[in-house]
Amino acid sequence: QGMTEEQAINSNVKVVVRVRPENAKERDGGYNNIVRVMDEQVLVFDPKEDHGSPDYYHGKRRKRRDIMKRQNKDMRYAFDRVFSEYATNQEVYENTTMKILDGFMDGYNCSVFAYGATGAGKTFSMLGSPSSPGVIFLTMMELYRRIELMKEEKICDVAVSYLEVYNEQIRDLLMPSNPLPIREDPAKGVVVAGLSLHKPKTADELMYMLDFGNQNRTQHPTDANAESSRSHAVFQVFVRQKDRTANISTDFRVAKMSLIDLAGSERATVTTNRGARFREGANINRSLLALGNCINALADGKVKGQHVPYRNSKLTRLLKDSLGGNCRTVMIAAVSPSAMTYDDTHNTLKYANRAKNI
Ligand code: ADP
Ligand code: MG
Repeated sequence: QGMTEEQAINSNVKVVVRVRPENAKERDGGYNNIVRVMDEQVLVFDPKEDHGSPDYYHGKRRKRRDIMKRQNKDMRYAFDRVFSEYATNQEVYENTTMKILDGFMDGYNCSVFAYGATGAGKTFSMLGSPSSPGVIFLTMMELYRRIELMKEEKICDVAVSYLEVYNEQIRDLLMPSNPLPIREDPAKGVVVAGLSLHKPKTADELMYMLDFGNQNRTQHPTDANAESSRSHAVFQVFVRQKDRTANISTDFRVAKMSLIDLAGSERATVTTNRGARFREGANINRSLLALGNCINALADGKVKGQHVPYRNSKLTRLLKDSLGGNCRTVMIAAVSPSAMTYDDTHNTLKYANRAKNI
């Protein structure tokens, strides 16, 4: 599927992969490192044994190397950008959402996804921490800066919302709510009826809001993986702008950016599969599966003009006006470097590789 260079440059989707540092469990378990970052655009998954490898260099014989499913696939993947364990959230931001802010200010809807298994680094990238703010915070700061710069010429109105899609239901993360319905408005596009809109006045206020919303996400600490998250968190920014010289009621330019911390992409079956949780897992799969199917259809549609099945899940219905067409999309695929999560990493890389063709 050769994309010409021109197509690649004109593509409205950017796919990056972020490899997080090995954690204590992976290190203490003696698992091999199976992701090698070659340069800013290329990584090798499950590289062949190589005397230049860090494992060899440090003289550590990784005992689990051969009993794991290590197959020496030696698969080379190229992406718009590859971030190693040393990359900061600032660098990730500068090479992802910062690049689509021009398009956003020009009125194009944008979507930014963090995709990957639980524990791979999605929330770290999107939300970050007070000492290392994530992509959402950094994007908002830059947005405010740009609006300030053009305030002589334009009137700008910014509002944000934060919701989760959990069990195929939409809930407001900033204000307690019943499940909220999605409506399609001919003028406004996709709208979540009853969703609260906010205008944080300061950086601190925004940080607090993000943290507060994140804490309201539905989590299940009793699961096999305590950090597991089955909810998709969707932060949206709405910008309405107008030339100061324009007519009173016309010439508004409206755009929205959706920044999404997706539910873990690992198989729901590996954790729990009884009763309510089973349904939950099935529904998670539905939104992630539907997103994957839309991405596939958009990738194929570039050639064939295929129907995109947005209606199959809440998440894809919500993003119908923010995916494909002239919309700008960024996919941040998060992976662990460890053989402990060999299949998850492999699946995430395959998914990300597919998304490049949109
Ligand atoms: P996810 O949201 O994908 O389930 P998290 O973002 O919560 O995963 O990351 C899991 C753990 O790894 C957290 O403790 C987080 O702080 C840490 N972590 C993830 N990515 C990085 C990174 N790039 N650098 C340092 N720590 C990270
Ligand atoms: Mg998370």
